[in-house]
Order: sequence, then C-alpha cells, then structure tokens
Amino acid sequence: MFVVLLGPPGAGKGTQAERIAKATGLLHVSTGDMFREHVRNETELGQLAKSYMDKGELVPDEVTISMLNERISRDDASEGVMFDGFPRNVPQAKALDDALAERAKKIDRALLISARDEELVSRLSGRWICRQCGRLFHERFDPPAEAGKCDACGGELYQRDDDKADVVRTRLEKQKPAPELIDHYRQAGVLHEVDGERSIDEVTTALLEALR
Ligand code: AMP
Repeated sequence: MFVVLLGPPGAGKGTQAERIAKATGLLHVSTGDMFREHVRNETELGQLAKSYMDKGELVPDEVTISMLNERISRDDASEGVMFDGFPRNVPQAKALDDALAERAKKIDRALLISARDEELVSRLSGRWICRQCGRLFHERFDPPAEAGKCDACGGELYQRDDDKADVVRTRLEKQKPAPELIDHYRQAGVLHEVDGERSIDEVTTALLEALR
C-alpha cells in the first residue's frame, strides 16, 4: 500500500507517520527527515536545502523530486510506503504518481490531517526533537520523562530552527496543503480527512481506520 500523509506543519504528520509505520509495517519516508540528515552530514544537498528550510520555504521541486525518486527506487520501498511531508504541491504529486506508475503502483490513500492555525502555532513552538534518534516530543502533549533528554535513547533534545515563532508563521502561510493538492487526491477517490485536533491516540485510531 502507498499512502500520502497531508496536512499543515504542526498537524502531527511526523508523529502519526511514525505510529502508523509501526502499526502497519509501511516504510516511513519523510522528505523533511531526509533533508535534515543531509544538513547534519553537511552534504552539498544539505547546504542548499538549509538555505530554504531556515526561512520556512519549500526546497525547489527539482531537487526534492529527484531525492524522493532515488529513495523509492530502493528495494525496501517496493511493497509500500507512508509518505510524510511529500507531496507539498501538485507538481510533486504528479511526479509521485508517475514514479509509482512506472512500477505499476499508485497512491492508495491520501490522509489529510487538519487543524486550525492557532492550534498549529502553539504546537509548533512546543516541539522538541532528539538529536540522536529523531524521536519527537512536545512540551504539552508528549513531554519526555526527563526535560531535555530522549526517553528512547537518552539523546539530547533540541528545537528545530524552523520551529521558532516568526519562521513558524511563514511555514504556515507557505506550506498549508493547497486546495489544488487536496483536489488532486479527492478526484482520484483516495482522500480521507481526519480531525487533527483530537488526542494523539484518537488521531492514530482514525487514521488506521481510514487505512483499512
Ligand atoms: P518537515 O519536516 O516536513 O516540516 O520539512 C522541513 C522542511 O524541509 C520544510 O520546511 C521544507 O523547507 C523542506 N521540505 C520537506 N519536504 C519538502 C517537500 N516535499 N518539498 C519541498 N520542501 C520540503
């Protein structure tokens, strides 16, 4: 099964993608995580991506699509993927459709997690990530047992530069899924919308239900 997870920044895509991947065995592919790994490894692509990420803008399609294509051409992606943070616009959606069609596959579900702006701003500014294993925490919704320390691996927690207030507003403005993107999947008959303002567990349950 090939699934895309859509929603504004802060709707819970990353958290839910991790949980769904665990529950279903789907491979979790996050373009945001891939870019952050390139930044950490100081690759050329990482340097380029960082200049956009720091401003809360999207990395150009050409770069993002070719990175994604390379990822899904690997063996571990042949049977199913949960895409998180990709596609962000219609050209990316079409590129993904084409890449899957070449393998006689298609997107089976598009799960849209929705939430209001006020809620998103408050969520994004409370996020913490483990520097070592990438696990996500939230001051309010999912705090670590010990402040600043990862429950899973003991790594140090940090806040993403692009989770700081002014960048958060730009990200919300520029990175909400466009109506055209949502329509792309509605027309394909695969769209399911889930209210993302409920508890993390409730949202997971609703998403898993939509995947049945
Ligand atoms: P995320 O972790 O999904 O919030 O992504 C973090 C940042 O990576 C975004 O603010 C963008 O700058 C970049 N990024 C992630 N996915 C994409 C994408 N599909 N297209 C363009 N830029 C992306």
